[in-house]
Amino acid sequence: METVYIGADIGGMTIKLGCFAEDGELIEKWRIPTRLEDKGSFILPDTAMSVKERAAKRKWMVAGVGVGVPGPVTKDGEVLKCANLGWDVFSCKQKMTELMEMENIEAVNDANAAGLGESWMGAGRNFQSMVMVTLGTGIGGSIILDNRVLHGFNGAAGEIGHMKVEYHEKDVCGCGYRGCLEQYASAKGIVRIAKKYMKEGSHIYINKDMLNAKMIFDGAKKGDESCLEIVDKFGEYLGTALSNVSCVVDTEAIVIGGGVSKAGSILIDKVSEWYHRKSLYALQNKTFCIAELGNDAGIYGCAKLVIGRGKQWQK
Ligand SMILES: [Zn+2]
Repeated sequence: METVYIGADIGGMTIKLGCFAEDGELIEKWRIPTRLEDKGSFILPDTAMSVKERAAKRKWMVAGVGVGVPGPVTKDGEVLKCANLGWDVFSCKQKMTELMEMENIEAVNDANAAGLGESWMGAGRNFQSMVMVTLGTGIGGSIILDNRVLHGFNGAAGEIGHMKVEYHEKDVCGCGYRGCLEQYASAKGIVRIAKKYMKEGSHIYINKDMLNAKMIFDGAKKGDESCLEIVDKFGEYLGTALSNVSCVVDTEAIVIGGGVSKAGSILIDKVSEWYHRKSLYALQNKTFCIAELGNDAGIYGCAKLVIGRGKQWQK
């Protein structure tokens, strides 16, 4: 029987599962649907059942399961409510321990799992410390110091998307407050900035109602002036925010992931340009890179939490 470790990354639509060998090799990955009925009470039993069934079929000896949750999780594995899944406050770690009938279980916030995954096997593998920022519909973030996730007292360390970057914003962020980075630098935020610029009379050639972040980056690559201006504004917000983050945690690298990061070098160039324009001399030495593991980062990070427990990381 092969000894394996499971990473289970729970999302609002699907649960991504990955089976890993002790050395971090991804043996197999699969997905099951996330059942949101009855306040999400089927999610963990479905996950445990799927793992057990597959393990029996493949003759795996499951030695640990790490669970990624799209909401705040304390370092003890307690979920502090998760609106997307209908979950209230409870110990995800304890519940999964009961369902799997085994000890080596961890639960972690999904953005932290993605950061840990990139740090372990992705773009951050050559660095001891990194900040990961995930630019999707919203913005997720995580901080990896000495190859470990910084959870924070409430499990909310690294919530870079809700750093305040504008003090006089009138629109409200999804979190209920105003002026969060997510309102300017997420996929939605970039479109919001673009629309604002158009209102102010910029000549963007794209149909306003069809606008998305990719179209703006594509326009900028072709040299469209309005698009370049919007990308510059995006770079200013994100680069400045990351400069502020670096004043608190001066990591070796900053890894940028999520759908928006597919824009590639134009994005990295703009963000690092603004980062360097805004940062202290001592913080200038910083590597920027694009994430490498895509949607698999979460399962890697979840598995990493339970692989080789008690051992020092070996890179
Ligand atoms: Zn916010």
